[in-house]
Amino acid sequence: MARKESKEELKKRTQEIVRRLKRAFPDAKCSLNHTNPFELLIATILSAQCTDERVNLVTADLFRKYRGPEDYLKVPARELETDIQSTGFFRNKTKSIQGTAKVLTEKYHGEVPRTMEELLELPGVARKTANVVLGNAFEIKSGVVVDTHVTRLSHRLGLTKEKDAQKIERDLVEIVAKKDWVIFSHLLIYHGRKTCKARTPLCEECVIEKYCPSSYLKTGVPPGS
Ligand code: SF4
Repeated sequence: MARKESKEELKKRTQEIVRRLKRAFPDAKCSLNHTNPFELLIATILSAQCTDERVNLVTADLFRKYRGPEDYLKVPARELETDIQSTGFFRNKTKSIQGTAKVLTEKYHGEVPRTMEELLELPGVARKTANVVLGNAFEIKSGVVVDTHVTRLSHRLGLTKEKDAQKIERDLVEIVAKKDWVIFSHLLIYHGRKTCKARTPLCEECVIEKYCPSSYLKTGVPPGS
């Protein structure tokens, strides 16, 4: 049986994975279009159960119509629901957006707060959304964004065994250098799209194959099967 990897070895392996992925994807960044923290907050709320491409299509018009929190409060819920309908779960998302806009207007002069505690008090904002906003809009390293892609790749790479997003994040912040917390999820998402695809991972051309326990070149079994 293979010897269990020590925490130090796991950290070194993770560092090497990050180093190689940075080289492969030097332009990796948040794929939700935005021009300010508020737009990123709205885009992230819309991205729940929806692709970033679809969100970007919707926000291209949405951000022209609604400039700041007060604009989202001026319209009836029904109108906003129609505007964001194609992102799915549009009733809940409308409640979150209008609830968030209300708190931002009443409590923060229309600005997006910069702490995890304050962001988590906004309706519909959970840790993942708060991490996206803090990391990408303010460059504050509050944690690691864990979405379905990060979860899938972290499992394949043997970086965590946990299933729950908060527990996965707890594992990742221990092994990923803090300076890389924000870029880490972008790198995994880019790598997942290009090479480590859900059903057909391209292990033979993978730049981190050497550091991956799930590679079918080692196991003989495609990880997606
Ligand atoms: S070796 Fe295969 S399973 Fe491992 S990260 Fe690369 S593509 Fe994914």
